[in-house]
Amino acid sequence: MEKIPVVQEPVAQDLAPPHLPPHTLPHSPTSGRDGKFHVRLTEGRFQNLRRLVSWPLLALYFGLVWVQFDGQPWFLFSFEQHKIILFGQALSWRDLSLLAGLLIASAALLFFLAVAWGRIWCGFACPQSIWTWLFIRIEDFTEGRADKRTRQAAAPLTFHTLIRRLIKHLLWILLALATAITFTGYFVPVREILSAAIQLELSATVSGWILIMAGITYLNAGLVREQICLHACPYSRFQGVMFDDHTRTVSYDARRGEPRANRRKGSGNSGDCVDCGLCVQVCPAGIDIRDGLQAACIDCAACIDACDRVMSKLERPAGLIRFTSEAQLQGEKTHFFRPRLAGYAAVMLVAFSAVLYGFTQTTQLLVEIRRDRGAMFRQVNAQTVCNVYQIKVEGYSETQRFVDVSITGEGEFSLFGQRTIDLSEENAYWLPYRVCARDLALSKAELIFHFKGEALSASRQTTFLTRVF
Ligand code: SF4
Ligand code: SF4
Repeated sequence: MEKIPVVQEPVAQDLAPPHLPPHTLPHSPTSGRDGKFHVRLTEGRFQNLRRLVSWPLLALYFGLVWVQFDGQPWFLFSFEQHKIILFGQALSWRDLSLLAGLLIASAALLFFLAVAWGRIWCGFACPQSIWTWLFIRIEDFTEGRADKRTRQAAAPLTFHTLIRRLIKHLLWILLALATAITFTGYFVPVREILSAAIQLELSATVSGWILIMAGITYLNAGLVREQICLHACPYSRFQGVMFDDHTRTVSYDARRGEPRANRRKGSGNSGDCVDCGLCVQVCPAGIDIRDGLQAACIDCAACIDACDRVMSKLERPAGLIRFTSEAQLQGEKTHFFRPRLAGYAAVMLVAFSAVLYGFTQTTQLLVEIRRDRGAMFRQVNAQTVCNVYQIKVEGYSETQRFVDVSITGEGEFSLFGQRTIDLSEENAYWLPYRVCARDLALSKAELIFHFKGEALSASRQTTFLTRVF
């Protein structure tokens, strides 16, 4: 297992951690003949905390896609309508930079959390972890506990085992499909997807997207699991850079636990670790936290809960494995506020403030004007010259339906074309406009189009030509 080198200050002999003895007892995860390890479920305060975090997140994920306000979805990234709706507020594609800003701010938040508390995002809120735990629970429900699954994997396949395995895969596929349909529902209204699916009229693009997403979910959470965290997620690579001796991560207290021994309650002078291997069996990454900080550890704290239960049975204090810093393990004080943490906090605050400000300045009326490519100008008679323009107006306000079009400029202009534009049209399209001027002495004049509604207005400047340059 790949390890992250942890730089440690030299310590006095009396503070040096005890030497870890070679493992004499099996403590590997419960591995089956198929080479897969079977994660054992545990209970405890961190598992309750995970539920507290993950259930609301799951409810948001599966629920938000159904929320509507005045017939409009609350969240939608519509390629078809060139529209993003966030919390009921419509944004144009020009405001996509806000989403980029949001991602940068979120990354700063992630780095802040990583410096302070290690990979708690990975362990408690990352979708990969949440879905993996869901899939593990389904596995536990259909095929039995980890030790039973291990025995079944080693034994010849029976009809009973086969049926249970098929039910597990069926439930996994259903969950993967529900996940994929919901995900697609953030891009195409979910009600449209379901009604098209019922009528067997789902487009090839939407069906293909759903199948790909379902396949990825099934593969990631059901089959590949920790390999994604270890090999595909760049975050596990960053942690070695972001952690320092004061970062609190899930750690094994070797001073207290070693020398480990398989002993009964209260006997002997050895360390508190009884080498029961439970901390390894519950680990979704399949590692032994007693070997030190490792790139595969996602700080899910399952090993803390498992070990606390063992300590409780032995009537010893909890916390042989706990969230703590390397400094504390060495008997030093942990400093929470550090320059690096302050730096990430500052970046995070600036980024979130900028994004919040950006949301107050979003485009409400998107106007595009282009000159007719056929002719630069048309000489109607000796006094009158006309220019033709194509105009597209898209509205991003739920309260504004119509805008009036007018012009002003350096001369006496007349406007011909649709004077009121309906913004509620499903797809905004280009409208032709003709502007004519009489007795214009200038060869090129400034012309301004005005678009005005009750709550919205916009102006765009263009040029009016009377001569070819
Ligand atoms: S669960 Fe605790 S006591 Fe058991 S092996 Fe792990 S660290 Fe040792
Ligand atoms: S070592 Fe502990 S905290 Fe790390 S992934 Fe395994 S169970 Fe979770």
